[in-house]
Amino acid sequence: MRKRVLIVGGGTAGWLTAGYLAKRLGADLPDGVAITLVESRDIGVLGVGEGTFPTIRRTLATIGIDEAELVRRCGATFKQGAKFVHWRHAPGQGATDHYSHPFQVADASDGLDLLPYWLLGHGGAENWDEVSNPQKKAADRQRAPKLPTNPDYVGPLNYAFHFDAIALAGLLREQAIKNGVRHLTDTVNEVLLAEDGAIAGVRTEQNGVLDADLYVDCTGFRAELIGKAMKVPFRSCRDVLFCNRAIAAQLPYARPSDPIASYTISTAQESGWIWDIGLDRRRGIGHVYSSDHTDDEAAERVLRGYLGAAGADADVRHFKFEAGYREVNWVKNCVAVGLSSGFFEPLEATGIAFAEVSAGMIANLFPWGGDYETSARQFNANLLRRYERALDFIKLHYCISERRDTAFWRDNVADASVPDSLLEMLDRWRFRPPNELDIDGQIDIFTEASWQYVLYGMGWKTDLSAKAGALRYHEDARRAFAEVRRQAEYAIANLPSNRDLVEYAQTRRFGG
Ligand code: FAD
Repeated sequence: MRKRVLIVGGGTAGWLTAGYLAKRLGADLPDGVAITLVESRDIGVLGVGEGTFPTIRRTLATIGIDEAELVRRCGATFKQGAKFVHWRHAPGQGATDHYSHPFQVADASDGLDLLPYWLLGHGGAENWDEVSNPQKKAADRQRAPKLPTNPDYVGPLNYAFHFDAIALAGLLREQAIKNGVRHLTDTVNEVLLAEDGAIAGVRTEQNGVLDADLYVDCTGFRAELIGKAMKVPFRSCRDVLFCNRAIAAQLPYARPSDPIASYTISTAQESGWIWDIGLDRRRGIGHVYSSDHTDDEAAERVLRGYLGAAGADADVRHFKFEAGYREVNWVKNCVAVGLSSGFFEPLEATGIAFAEVSAGMIANLFPWGGDYETSARQFNANLLRRYERALDFIKLHYCISERRDTAFWRDNVADASVPDSLLEMLDRWRFRPPNELDIDGQIDIFTEASWQYVLYGMGWKTDLSAKAGALRYHEDARRAFAEVRRQAEYAIANLPSNRDLVEYAQTRRFGG
């Protein structure tokens, strides 16, 4: 008999999981897994989540989404990382007002690790993000990461996307149905539990009781299955990450030909930060803040100040969230994916990335033999560790700031709000930079390159004076830095602009 999966919820997480599992578990094959997704017409999707992580390319390719169609249908643009403004110093209080976290990893030219040489000053006056790889300079000039002739999801520079979240859910829905997913529009109003605590079925308003072998909870913050029915506790991380509110707006470009930024611009504010994401016809801009450090009215004023005169009449949407996650996300025959599982905050776009990771693990650990406990144990251990590690990485952006101008920043740098695991890593990196031994390849979303970009972008000091005498490839390093500069010039001269590539995709497929 065919195994059956029921996904409850049709936001980004639900449709991404459905389309992905349909491909990996053969929903369109007679003996593959039958997948049904039920989504409520009355309960909306969150509708934000416009920034992604490079893993999205492989996920979308697996689901079968054509890249040019993604651009056309979802207003998608090419994202090459994040630019952080005023995170290190408050405006006007320090020479350095921005740094980048590009997706491209540092160029290990001929295996030579360039970072120690940069720390010793061989990179000249340039920062690590610009001297280690060509991407930052190319993105600063709004270059795209790929050429029109590159095949789908491939480019000389590493990238992800910005897109309209609602349009994406629509495109994912269409493709998931093509991949064999059965779609029901209905509201689940009761979750039925068996005696052993497993889910026996879900009662819907119009389709009666639906049952399955595995239930995937993609009901967003409502967490109808994993939280309300199965009572799995949620672990708040508010003591570490203070932001718990967001106000979002959309702003059209002044002119249709305006350049499209090729990274998410994250500008620190007195009690949070503002994201600025360039889509094809509009920007998505939002203020993320801590309600313990400011109030909604003041936060909206800050957002409107950022939007300027052009945004004076812009509609805004308010969001409430609590940074945190469930330590257990797979219980018996129920597994949570998306906001029902956890969410930190929009910084570094981990929301959709975690949904991708979870969908991938469900496919890899699918309990074909009916052994749910073994799959659940492995899934839970892996995801928990990922959450803990991502929490440290996000907190890093705040806790090494030199800002002391407001209570928000003073509280953020206080050791009491920094996890011990992060304090320990920072301790290691006083005398050596992060390297692969600090990273677990099976777990970490962020590699040592990401940690390095943020640490050194924020002015972290690693004292290499004791090691300096053991370094011998000084000239090679200088040549390698010069080569990165040359590559950046080449990229700027030869890659199309972000807008030109988006325009290209309106009428043609990539790789032609
Ligand atoms: P939702 O979008 O809330 O979808 C829930 C679904 O469940 C809906 O279809 C609803 O109808 C259905 N549902 C609920 N209850 C029932 C029921 N009883 N019966 C039937 N159906 C039901 N992530 C990123 O990766 N990048 C970002 O830049 C980013 N920015 C964000 C900014 C903010 C302010 C916030 C709050 C989040 C952001 N996220 C971001 C997270 C991202 O929005 C989510 O990861 C993503 O939207 C997935 O949401 P979801 O599908 O889990 O939930």
